[in-house]
Amino acid sequence: MPQVMELFVNGQSVCRADFNETRAANVHISTDPHSDRSGLWPLYYWVNGFQWGTDAYSLEWLKGPIEPGQTIEVRIHDSQDPATPAQETLVVNTRPCNFCDRPASDVPFMVEKGPFSRICSDCVKECSQLINAKSTPI
Ligand SMILES: [Zn+2]
Repeated sequence: MPQVMELFVNGQSVCRADFNETRAANVHISTDPHSDRSGLWPLYYWVNGFQWGTDAYSLEWLKGPIEPGQTIEVRIHDSQDPATPAQETLVVNTRPCNFCDRPASDVPFMVEKGPFSRICSDCVKECSQLINAKSTPI
C-alpha cells in the first residue's frame, strides 16, 4: 500500500504527497531568511519534495506562514488513494555533471543514479575509453 505524507496546520490538511522509491519529502520549519530583517522574522513552514530519475528534481510543494499558537503536524500513513500535493512546482534540475561540472544543457545526455549522482554521456565515453585501455592487454 502506498504511503502518504500529510501536513496539518491547526488540524487542517494543507498538503498530501505520495512516497515511492523515487520520491522523498522534507518538512522544514524556520524563519524566512529572505524576509526583511528590520523586524521579527516571521516563521514559515516549507514542504519540499525531491524526485530523481527525471529532470524535475525539486518539487517545492508548499510554503506558508506560521502564526504564534498554531500547530504543525506531519503524519505518515498508508493510503489507497493516490495523493498529489496541494501545490506542486516542478523545478528543472540544473545540477551539473559530478565529473566535468557542465550543466545538463551543455552535454548530450545526463545519466542519473539516485538523487545526488550524475554523470554526462561525454564523461561516460571518456571513462569507458580509460577502462578499455586499462583492461586491454598490450
Ligand atoms: Zn561530465
